[in-house]
Amino acid sequence: MSAADPNCLFCKIVAGELPADRVFEDETVLAFKDIHPQAPFHCLVIPKAHVATLNDFTSQEAAVIGTLLLTAKRIAGDHGLPGYRVAMNVNREGGQVVFHAHLHVLGGRPLKGALG
Ligand code: AMP
Ligand code: ZN
Repeated sequence: MSAADPNCLFCKIVAGELPADRVFEDETVLAFKDIHPQAPFHCLVIPKAHVATLNDFTSQEAAVIGTLLLTAKRIAGDHGLPGYRVAMNVNREGGQVVFHAHLHVLGGRPLKGALG
């Protein structure tokens, strides 16, 4: 993890330089609604510090990954989602478009279908 990347879209959201519909925030993570929702509920959970992909986390940063997942659980509870899906795309081949690591949290309808 590193300091904010001035060219990174999600670092700009963390800094408040770009608007976002924030749903949760603490000292480590920020969650906000996805601008192109793929389910009735779709938000992103990101570390506030810049890290490009899951592959760039070190073992010293494992607690941040845990916090991202526990934040997804908390948000699902806060929004009354009885079930939900958490996904993280890694690198272009994995479907990643924004290179600031993020969890997708999707719900609000029964989720079926292939993941890949
Ligand atoms: P990924 O393909 O995993 O990198 O997902 C990037 C996600 O970021 C997509 O679902 C986009 O709809 C979403 N996104 C891009 N720009 C914004 C933005 N300014 N605010 C909220 N979500 C965004
Ligand atoms: Zn960033």
